[in-house]
Amino acid sequence: MVEMTDIRNIVILTGAGVSAESGIDTFRDAGGLWEKHRVEDVATPEAFARDPDLVHRFYDMRRAAIQTKKPNDAHYALAELDRHWRGEGRNLLIVTQNVDDLHERAGAERLLHMHGEHLVALCQACEIRSPWTGPMQHRPPCPICGTPSLRPDVVWFGEMPYHIPEIYSAIRTADLFVSIGTSGAVYPAAGFVRDAKQQGAKTLELNLEPSQGSHFFDEARYGPATEVVPEWVDELLDL
Ligand code: NAD
Repeated sequence: MVEMTDIRNIVILTGAGVSAESGIDTFRDAGGLWEKHRVEDVATPEAFARDPDLVHRFYDMRRAAIQTKKPNDAHYALAELDRHWRGEGRNLLIVTQNVDDLHERAGAERLLHMHGEHLVALCQACEIRSPWTGPMQHRPPCPICGTPSLRPDVVWFGEMPYHIPEIYSAIRTADLFVSIGTSGAVYPAAGFVRDAKQQGAKTLELNLEPSQGSHFFDEARYGPATEVVPEWVDELLDL
């Protein structure tokens, strides 16, 4: 087993729980429903093809909401760890399933959004991504090609997550894998802990309650992210 003092390469997977105390609902908080639709049914390519107005309305609302929220102490602690660890020439990668921008607003830099970002529009005509803060329901033109065929740049159920080769390459060399505020229900992210463990990484879960894959972790600490994450980061940086 890897000693904490030997750790040089950390991969941190975050989920909706890390942003919950910033006031952004997790799927479970919202009861998994939005306007009587299952969230999973709004977040699919089939739903977008069937009823684009409904899907745009959902994402326009989420996009507007996240811009009123602020990073919390868990986001700041992870950004601080990123800064410190980089100063010491050590590797760290935050892989987030979140589509909000709270990690980067807190100052994290080594970050990948595997499920895309609310504040980015993807043009289905020219396939170019553009920063986007406003609504899409009125079908605005793409700022690059002018075609009114923008969609939210979020990875829907049934679509391929982003950055998979970079994520697996970081997991292959990780000596510590940490999962924070994720239910372990959505693949492939839910399988990362097994891959990390198989290649010898120490594994740690920080969550409000045991996730579906909690038995795969060597260690777990349960509590609100704004408490358990800063405590863990302080311990690591005090080593
Ligand atoms: P999830 O809703 O399935 O699970 C949330 C997890 O967070 C649960 O395990 C819960 O116990 C934990 N949690 C809740 N409050 C917490 C707190 N205060 N501190 C620590 N943990 C807490 O979310 P998921 O696992 O991220 O996966 C579902 C999908 O939902 C992802 O694909 C993600 O893209 C999407 N999503 C993103 C956001 C966001 O961007 N903020 C919000 C909701 C859903």
